[in-house]
Amino acid sequence: MVDFKYDADVLIVGGGPSGSICAYYLAKAGKKVILIDSENFPRDKICGDFVSPIGLNELKKIGIWELDEYEKTNLIFGATVYLDGEPLITNKLPHITGLPNYGRVIPRVILDNWIVEAAKEKGVQIITPCKLNHYSVNDNYVKIECIQDGIEKHFIVKILIGADGSKSKVAKILNGKNLAPENKIVAVRAYFENLDCNFQQAELFFSSSCFPGYYWFFPTSATTANVGIGMMLEHFPKEDRNLKTLLLEKIENDSSFKAKIGNGKIVDKIVGFPLSIYNPRSSIVKDRVMLIGDAAGLVNSINGEGMQYAMQSGRWAAESVIKCLLSDNFNKKALKIYETIVRKEIGLDMSIANIVMQFIRNRNLNPLWLKLLEIMIAQAKTDERYADIAGGILAGMIPTSIALKFYFIRKSLLRGVIMSFRGTFGIFKFFKNATILIFRLLSQIFKQRVEYGNWIKNIFKAIFATLRLYYNCQNLKHN
Ligand SMILES: Cc1cc2nc3c(=O)[nH]c(=O)nc-3n(C[C@H](O)[C@H](O)[C@H](O)COP(=O)(O)OP(=O)(O)OC[C@H]3O[C@@H](n4cnc5c(N)ncnc54)[C@H](O)[C@@H]3O)c2cc1C
Repeated sequence: MVDFKYDADVLIVGGGPSGSICAYYLAKAGKKVILIDSENFPRDKICGDFVSPIGLNELKKIGIWELDEYEKTNLIFGATVYLDGEPLITNKLPHITGLPNYGRVIPRVILDNWIVEAAKEKGVQIITPCKLNHYSVNDNYVKIECIQDGIEKHFIVKILIGADGSKSKVAKILNGKNLAPENKIVAVRAYFENLDCNFQQAELFFSSSCFPGYYWFFPTSATTANVGIGMMLEHFPKEDRNLKTLLLEKIENDSSFKAKIGNGKIVDKIVGFPLSIYNPRSSIVKDRVMLIGDAAGLVNSINGEGMQYAMQSGRWAAESVIKCLLSDNFNKKALKIYETIVRKEIGLDMSIANIVMQFIRNRNLNPLWLKLLEIMIAQAKTDERYADIAGGILAGMIPTSIALKFYFIRKSLLRGVIMSFRGTFGIFKFFKNATILIFRLLSQIFKQRVEYGNWIKNIFKAIFATLRLYYNCQNLKHN
């Protein structure tokens, strides 16, 4: 066998949570790791900054909880959900064995730097600013071409890990194309200061103007908050106003939101970035190359959270690569151990969430989707177990698949029936509204044939992809 002069065992592109955690674990196991990022750290990353309890547990594993500054970051114990300006429910995060019953809002400029520093301490060679331009896979190595300070540079390594976020170049080369628009969410955020807020509570605002999506208000302290809006990119009919305008309008016109902001002022400006959501049909491994975090589309499309999956996938990738380094085998088949873990642990769940997202892309039916949300909130108000499941799914603590359990569906349907038929003439009102909705739908189908055709096609595609994944996961369990 030819003895190559490798620069490192592994090169990771991207020093966000996925890349730096992956680098941390590999270096901890004694592997030689290079991590490159196009930006110098500390650097900001456009985000809502909410780290879920599962994400916090990943931070604990790498010792971040021991930092003094970590203790000072803002704790979130629960959330209030608003519908068209009305606060409908305030609930605490559920108690789940092994998880903290709180999340934290940690500005990314601070959080990402902590993880990069932890990786550096373990011996990772961090090279910034260094931008990946291209890579090529050969029988015995991967050649990575980068630009550092305007100078071309290349590295020869055994394996390349793409952790370069939702606009991933590594993913584009691996899959041979850009991500489809129906697999993208777009979101904007701004920091506010001079607030007077209930700082241990998150606020989520749903309304027809931003559905499928929501506005958030995540306090970073008693006087500062991260405020934003996220929405699926592909929806119909198209929303003419951009997200920045929608956010400013919400602050101006929604009395509950306005009250939250009070005399608050925007720090800097409103900025946006895309999120990539999971596509079970896309590959996340190829010979000598793997994708993790946003580059692999590991975002929960229900709530837009990606940090916990970024950190988990970073750890799983490191564990898998350590095994491959032992056997000196880096072909696609060997790297599938990582893909299998992702599919079993989070992929199936994300696929189910995608089916929901494909349905609610149809904004003509927003009154129906928001009514369903109202029904679920009404049930949660009277039923603690149901509230824990719904809240847990929204916070990314409980798999979305739990919503398919008989208990959850039965309770939702029953509540729906009660609400539909309640009150004097309730039954007549219900049938009147249902008839209006059906007629409106039929006339829309006629006018928007192409959109409806695509909508139905994408729903079926999402269902088939999920069933295939489910079947594969069942087979994996038996093997
Ligand atoms: C507006 C918004 C709000 C969000 N809110 C939340 C939230 O509240 N909670 C949550 O959990 N998630 C949230 N997310 C999602 C979350 O930000 C991502 O899931 C998370 O950052 C993914 O981490 P990552 O390490 O995979 O990628 P990133 O954090 O995106 O890191 C990628 C890194 O790669 C580098 N890079 C990119 N291209 C190259 C290149 N060619 N060469 C070298 N380096 C490169 C970048 O500089 C960057 O440092 C939000 C996202 C957005 C856009």
